[in-house]
Amino acid sequence: MKLIFIGPPGAGKGTHAAAISEALGLPIIGTGNILRESVKNGTELGQKAKSFMDAGQLVPDELILSMVKERLSAPDCAGGYILDGFPRTLPQAEALTAMGITPDHVLSLEVDDSAIISRLTGRRVCDNCGATYHVVGMPPKTEGICDVCGNALSVRADDREETVKERLRVYHEQTEPIKAYFEQMGLVRGFDSTGSVAAVTRALLQYLGASQ
Ligand code: AMP
Repeated sequence: MKLIFIGPPGAGKGTHAAAISEALGLPIIGTGNILRESVKNGTELGQKAKSFMDAGQLVPDELILSMVKERLSAPDCAGGYILDGFPRTLPQAEALTAMGITPDHVLSLEVDDSAIISRLTGRRVCDNCGATYHVVGMPPKTEGICDVCGNALSVRADDREETVKERLRVYHEQTEPIKAYFEQMGLVRGFDSTGSVAAVTRALLQYLGASQ
């Protein structure tokens, strides 16, 4: 099964992709995570991508497309996958089609802009194991410390308020049009993602025929 999550930054794509990955045994191809890893490791891709990411801009399509093509050709993708954060522009969606890939479902997570701003500015992440928290909605047991691995939590550079507003502007301008692209193909199902994480995960799993 090939799934695509779309939705504004902070809509819960990464969180729900993780739950679905566990339930269905599918690998997650998270372009934001791959890019952050590349920045951390100082690779050529990471060096090229960093300034775009820090400014809340999209990384150029050609860099993203070669990265995604390479990742999707790995053996673990043969039985399907979950795309989290890709495609993010119309040319990326068209490139996916040109690669002969049609997703089974495009899961659209819907949250309005004001809720996104409070979600993202309160988000805390563990740079060591990737766990994600929220200062109000999902705080760690000990403030500032990862429950999973004990590492100190940090704020993503692109979660500062001004950058979040820029990411939302870029989302509406460049990413929202891909929804119409997949709607024409009859593949999109919208989910209100303002409810609790558990309720949204349940609705997604039920839709995918994998209810717990
Ligand atoms: P995310 O973790 O999905 O919010 O991605 C973080 C940042 O990585 C984005 O703000 C972009 O700068 C970059 N990025 C991730 N995926 C893509 C993509 N498909 N196309 C362009 N830039 C991307």
